Amino acid sequence: MSRGIYLLKSLCTHKEALKQLFRTPVSHAIDITPDWLQTHGIKALVLDFDGVLASHGQKTLHPDVIPWLQALSQQKDLSLWILSNNPSSARQQFFATHFPSVQMIMGARKKPYPDGLLTIIQEHHYLPTEILMVDDRLLTGCLAALNAGTQAVWISKPYRRVFSRKMFFELYFSMLRTLDKLTLL
Ligand SMILES: [Mg+2]
Repeated sequence: MSRGIYLLKSLCTHKEALKQLFRTPVSHAIDITPDWLQTHGIKALVLDFDGVLASHGQKTLHPDVIPWLQALSQQKDLSLWILSNNPSSARQQFFATHFPSVQMIMGARKKPYPDGLLTIIQEHHYLPTEILMVDDRLLTGCLAALNAGTQAVWISKPYRRVFSRKMFFELYFSMLRTLDKLTLL
């Protein structure tokens, strides 16, 4: 099934759950605390990259994210993952160098396919409800989480660099986020 058709089919199935995520956003990933993760029984935290850890197209993290990720890396019983639709080798190298405990999922079909999350569930023996997907796109990462049966958080204030050479790139993704919201009307 093509990604577009799969997306529409998934949207029909999970529309109410997506609306609930939209109504209960988290501004930034760094607002998610170790205590919150423990309270919600999260053992694997899966992070989108673009918008969630940095503005679009970056190879490194937003400065605010670095101490937060360092603190989470110290948490016992919490594994950290990156599930991006753009898992470039430069990003993979960045994490291998600076955050070796953070694992980047490579080779999975793009979100909203649940493949990356299902790999974590099956290969590492987590319950789906022990996994939290954090994403700024309702129709990619959040929908992938619902397809896989994991928990999800929607990030409502993604990192952006509007006044930069990436301006049109950022505007394109802002448009996609707006379309995501319109599909929930
Ligand atoms: Mg994103």
